[in-house]
Amino acid sequence: MNILFHFLFNYLFVDIVFGNAWDYLVVVFVFSVLIDLTHLPYLLRVRKDVMKKRFGSGSRTRFHEIYGLTLFSAVICVLYLVFDPIIIGVIAMCIVLHFAIDFLTGKSMPFYPYSKKEVFLRISPYGYKEKILFETFSTILLVVLFWLKVGSLVL
Ligand SMILES: [Zn+2]
Repeated sequence: MNILFHFLFNYLFVDIVFGNAWDYLVVVFVFSVLIDLTHLPYLLRVRKDVMKKRFGSGSRTRFHEIYGLTLFSAVICVLYLVFDPIIIGVIAMCIVLHFAIDFLTGKSMPFYPYSKKEVFLRISPYGYKEKILFETFSTILLVVLFWLKVGSLVL
């Protein structure tokens, strides 16, 4: 999924669980999109061909699969002992939700680099055009929900 989807979905989820996501806006944004920085090596490798090759499971490093989830989880457990448990909870939720959304809606190689077996759960559409429509529609829906939520805070 795209960065905007991850941020908006995580913001709304954090707001439901913690009740005050606006107070953690920057934290939610940073830790909702941080994992997608692992696409950079792929982007640098394919450069101009990115529209042709797209963002399949091959665009992810090991840190965008279960290997990364395990590593981030271990770091979060240590940070939980030192920092504010609420902020660490928000960070953990954003990271776990990012992994979950990517796994549920896209193709992944969960055990990469130990196995290159690709998994697709078929929860979201398979075809490229259908996937773009699904992603666009769901992102617009989240923008509306976010605006309804934040609009009442700002206005
Ligand atoms: Zn991702």
